[in-house]
Amino acid sequence: MKVIPKEPVIFRFNAENPCVHTVEDGETFWVETDDCYSGQIRDASVRRPDIDISIMDCSVGPIEVKGARPGDTLCVEILAIQLASQGVMVTSRGLGVLGDRITEPDTKIIPIKDGFAWFSDTIRLPLTPMVGVCGVAPRPGLDIHCAVPGDHGSNLDTKMIKAGSKVYLPVSVPGAGLAVGDLHACMGDGELSGTGIETPGRICLKTTVYRDRPVARPVIETGEALYFLASAETLEAAVKLACADAVEFLQKKLELNFPDAYRLLSAVCDIQISQVVNDLRTVRVRCPKLNTKIDTL
Ligand code: CA
Ligand code: CA
Repeated sequence: MKVIPKEPVIFRFNAENPCVHTVEDGETFWVETDDCYSGQIRDASVRRPDIDISIMDCSVGPIEVKGARPGDTLCVEILAIQLASQGVMVTSRGLGVLGDRITEPDTKIIPIKDGFAWFSDTIRLPLTPMVGVCGVAPRPGLDIHCAVPGDHGSNLDTKMIKAGSKVYLPVSVPGAGLAVGDLHACMGDGELSGTGIETPGRICLKTTVYRDRPVARPVIETGEALYFLASAETLEAAVKLACADAVEFLQKKLELNFPDAYRLLSAVCDIQISQVVNDLRTVRVRCPKLNTKIDTL
C-alpha cells in the first residue's frame, strides 16, 4: 500500500498548488503527518512563543485523486489513525477561550501508550484520535491558510473526523487537491484551550469520487448519523448555514416541503460545536439515520 511521506507540505489551500502525489479513485493509502507545530516542540523546554509560527499548521499534500472534477464530491474515508508515542499541549497568552488568564506560556508533553494519553501519573485519558485538517483546494482565486476552516474543509477541528468516518468535500479543481494533517490524540468539542493533544502519526485513507452526491460544504458520515458542517465568523452565522444545508438535504431526500423539513430538523437533529478557537468557528448539525432514505448523502 502506498505511504505518502510527511513532506512536502502546504501552508495554504489554493487551487494553484501543484499536486505532489497521485492516487486512484477508490485507492487506500497511508499519509504520514507531523504535528501542527511541524515537530518543533519535542520537550517541555520549548514553549509556544519560542517556535517559528510560519511553519505551523502544515498539511500533507496536495494529493491528486484521479478522475475528480469540479462539481464532484470527494469522499475521504478515515480507515485508521496511528499515533506517535507522545503528544504535546501548550498554553500561551491569549490562546483558547480563557487565554487571558495565562500569564506565562508553558508546554506539557503527554506520553501515549497502551491506548491512553497519560496526562499525569494519575490522570489517563482514553484515546480519541482525530484528524484536525482535512481539505481540498478551494475555488480558484481563493488562498486560505491551513489554520482556517471553510467550505473546502481544512482546519475543521471536528472530533467526528475519526476512524470509521467518511468526510465529503466539494471538488473545485481537477484532481481535488486533498491535503491532511493536524492529528489529535484527544480533543473535546470546542478545542477550548486552543489545542488538542497535538500528535504526529499516520492516517489510512480511502478516496472515492462521487458525481451524484453534491455538497456545498463538508459533510461527515458515521454509522449512525450525517453531520452538516459550516464555518463562519460567528457561531450564530455558522449554525444558520449548517441548518440550511441539513434542511435542504431533508427536503430533497424525503420529498418534504420546507416547513416539514424545518420541523424535522428541530425534532431530531442536534447542533454541536466543533471548535471555537480558529479564525472562523465551526459547527455541525447531527442528522440521525432514522430512515433508509436518509442513511447516506
Ligand atoms: Ca487544528
Ligand atoms: Ca491542532
